[in-house]
Amino acid sequence: MDKTRISRIIQEQIRFFSGGETKKISFRIRQLRILKKAVIQNQELILDALRKDLGKPEFEAYMAEIYAIKQEIGFTLRHIRKWARPRNIPTPFTQHLGRGRFQPEPYGVALIIAPWNFPFNLVMVPLVSAVAAGNCAVLKPSEVAPHTSKVVARIISKYFPPEYITVVEGGVKETQLLLEQKFDRIFYTGSPAVGKIIMRAASRNLIPVTLELGGKSPCIIDRNVPLLAAAKRVVWGKFYNAGQACVSVDYVVVHREIKEQFIRIVRDLLSKFFGPDPVHNPDMARIIDEKHFSRLTGYLKSVKNIVIGGQWDKKNLTIAPAVLDHVQWTDPIMKEEIFGPILPVLEYEDLEDVIRRINGMPKPLVLYLYTRNNKVQRQVVERTSSGGVCINDSVVQFLNLNFPFGGIGNSGMGKYHGKAGFDAFTHNKAVFKKSFLIDLFFFRYPPFTKLHRFSRRFF
Ligand code: NAD
Repeated sequence: MDKTRISRIIQEQIRFFSGGETKKISFRIRQLRILKKAVIQNQELILDALRKDLGKPEFEAYMAEIYAIKQEIGFTLRHIRKWARPRNIPTPFTQHLGRGRFQPEPYGVALIIAPWNFPFNLVMVPLVSAVAAGNCAVLKPSEVAPHTSKVVARIISKYFPPEYITVVEGGVKETQLLLEQKFDRIFYTGSPAVGKIIMRAASRNLIPVTLELGGKSPCIIDRNVPLLAAAKRVVWGKFYNAGQACVSVDYVVVHREIKEQFIRIVRDLLSKFFGPDPVHNPDMARIIDEKHFSRLTGYLKSVKNIVIGGQWDKKNLTIAPAVLDHVQWTDPIMKEEIFGPILPVLEYEDLEDVIRRINGMPKPLVLYLYTRNNKVQRQVVERTSSGGVCINDSVVQFLNLNFPFGGIGNSGMGKYHGKAGFDAFTHNKAVFKKSFLIDLFFFRYPPFTKLHRFSRRFF
């Protein structure tokens, strides 16, 4: 799509937004219902695209990319009237007789840019919030998942007029053309490196941004833990979608006393989950493309400490879950987010040392901790900083829509899901209304006298 076409779309959306229709709650509710119907009626098309793009097992694809959107819409429909209602705030003495309130209003025309790893969910869930808040939206799905991108474009153009919601397909060039436009809000999900490009572009027009980024999410496993149950949840949280999730466990740091046992259990679990030939098992998602495949196999070729798995099939772009033992904090694999089915195992004796190491790295999106020890839980939660902490499970915290989801520092800024998503696309306008009946703040007016000097003491 060229520049003229893109700026025409934005102009049409600005015109439609200024008509005021999208601000009506009844309109927003109707559109959310249409979106839900669109997802349900096109389930097979969506699942087929996800299979083609990522070889996603159908159950996982359904749960993450269809059920999750239906949940988000259902939750939003249940609460939208409450979220959108103006809220009165207390008024200080000097401002009596006056009344203050927050009036939630939509930003206007929003741009939503999505990555490829949950290519349907990560464009649709922010859209649910944008619609609920009363915005128009331009969606830019990831070109790296081309089948899903096409399905998103097809569904949106069938169910919504382009002056309200539209899809711009394409890659870096199209995204950069979009970033030249004067949007009212930008919602970006993707890597920290591109996040910086987005924020720089947004700053040209002072556009507020939400950045949902990634990074290395650590997982600490204390010795005071039911190891089989913990390992099961860690293995699932690492190899789900072949490790291509922003909330994946990136690496584990296991207490020295239980490390050997942990690796033995992980070996058994992996063979139970994915059988003797994981690279040809349809329950294992594949790597998105050749670029990421060679990045990941590059790691595997360069190390000598693979203790489980790590075979690959270039034709199918699949990699068997790999576990690396004796990993050091300074190893190359500890520098970047892995975003694939490779699990480095580090060991520790002193928890303080682990905390120091984690605090020396960019702030993670999630910090996972497995322990039954309340003191250790408190120590880790209070002494580290991350988008969120999940104790004794992996990934599932993402599904609770009462939790604002998002990162901090290198893992992002701003939150979404549920009410937080509604707020991300809403400006809470402060409205103050005063009565003419009495002017309690009468002494504000000049000329200033001795009485004013005296009254200073009172304040
Ligand atoms: P990416 O940043 O490469 O691409 C995301 C989007 O940005 C795509 O739509 C792409 O077209 C666009 N883009 C890419 N390069 C660009 C450029 N130079 N200029 C303008 N636009 C550009 O990210 P990705 O590889 O698709 O996704 C992986 C990353 O996303 C990981 O770091 C992962 O942790 C993160 N992620 C975060 C979340 C979250 O919710 N926090 C969710 C999923 C993925």
